[in-house]
Amino acid sequence: MMAAVLAAALGLAWFSFKYSWWRPAADAAWPRVLMYHMISAPRAGARFNGLRVAPESFERQLRWLCERGWQSFTVSELVELGARVPPKAFAITFDDGYADNLLAALPLLQRYRCKATLYLVVERFGRDWSSLRKAHHNDGELQREPKLTDEQVQTLLASGCFELGSHSMTHANFRQLDMTAARRELVASKQALEARFDVAVNSFAWPFGLYRAEQVPLAAQAGYSSAVTTHEGIESPRQWQPLQLKRIKISGRDGWLAFRLRLRSGRRGWR
Ligand SMILES: [Zn+2]
Repeated sequence: MMAAVLAAALGLAWFSFKYSWWRPAADAAWPRVLMYHMISAPRAGARFNGLRVAPESFERQLRWLCERGWQSFTVSELVELGARVPPKAFAITFDDGYADNLLAALPLLQRYRCKATLYLVVERFGRDWSSLRKAHHNDGELQREPKLTDEQVQTLLASGCFELGSHSMTHANFRQLDMTAARRELVASKQALEARFDVAVNSFAWPFGLYRAEQVPLAAQAGYSSAVTTHEGIESPRQWQPLQLKRIKISGRDGWLAFRLRLRSGRRGWR
C-alpha cells in the first residue's frame, strides 16, 4: 500500500517536473511567437533532434491553431501592431535556413493559410556554427543539413507566406564579438539580404539567442525594428522589448501534451 502511494507521488512529481502543468496560462491577448528550425523526421542517434519537428507534428500543430481561431502574423506585423494585436495571434519563425522550410513547411503553411518569418544566415553553406556555442558540438551535423539555396529563398518569398529576417552573416556568437564585429554582423547581413532578395529586412534573430545587453541598441542602429531571442515566454505587447522578444520553443522531442502546455504558458520544464 505504502509502495503504491509512494509510486503515485513519485509519478506525479515526475509528471509535474516534466510538464509544469501548474504554470498559469498566459493571456490569450498576448501573442505566441513560435520558434522552429527544421520540419523533418528525427534521425536515429542525432544530437539535434530537438530542432527537427516531424511534418505530421507540424501539420497537427497548424491544424489545432487554425481550428481554435488563432490567427497567423509575421513577427514584423506583430511588432507593428503592438498593443493593437488582436487576441489569439501567433507568429511562426524558422531559424538558420534549412531546405525543408521550402520542401516540407511551405505546402503546410499554404494549406492552413499561415505566414512565417524566415531568419536566414547569409553565409550558411559549409559552416559548422554549432561549435561556436559548445566546442564539442563539432561533428558537423547541422553543417551537413541541406540549406536553402538563394533560388529556394526566392521561391519562399514569392509564395507570399514568408517574411525575410536576418540571422547574421555567419551565425556568430555575439557574446564573443566586440562592438565593431557585432555591428558588422547586424549591418552587413541586412544589406546583403536586402540587395540579394529585393525585400525589406526589418527583423533579426540573435544567433543561439546569445548577446550582450550593450549590443541591443546596435540592432536598432542597424535599422531593425524587431529581434527575437531564445528566451522562453509569452509577453504582453504593452510590455515586450521589440529587440529582445521571447519565443516558445517548439521541440521535436516534445509530445502533443508538451506542445499544448508550451502554448498555454510559454515554457515547459522546471525553470
Ligand atoms: Zn540559429
